[in-house]
Amino acid sequence: MSRSKRRYSKKSADNIRIAKEHIASLLTRARSVAKDNHPLAHRYVTLARKVAMKFRIRLDSDQKRLFCQHCYRFLVPGKNLRVRVHEHRVIYYCLDCKKFWRKPVTKKRESKKKVKR
Ligand SMILES: [Zn+2]
Repeated sequence: MSRSKRRYSKKSADNIRIAKEHIASLLTRARSVAKDNHPLAHRYVTLARKVAMKFRIRLDSDQKRLFCQHCYRFLVPGKNLRVRVHEHRVIYYCLDCKKFWRKPVTKKRESKKKVKR
């Protein structure tokens, strides 16, 4: 007589919620220490990413913006992040790993309201 198999999926939903809160709080802490203690902020980012990977959580775009996508250093504009606007794009330049990435400038008025024509 074999009883039902152990269900591993049972634990997930609640833990994912907790993990998401954990990630959010880690990134909040990273932000608060970033100016004074950059290595510690980097550590918080690393931990947040580890939690995210373990639970296969995708960080939202606001969270991803906080750190460099190449070296995962917490980004502080003016300290290790250079921001320039060039031809309708914002260019972010990470001073830690010397890599840069671009983002199109979106007009807030238009992106919030979808105008149907
Ligand atoms: Zn970097």
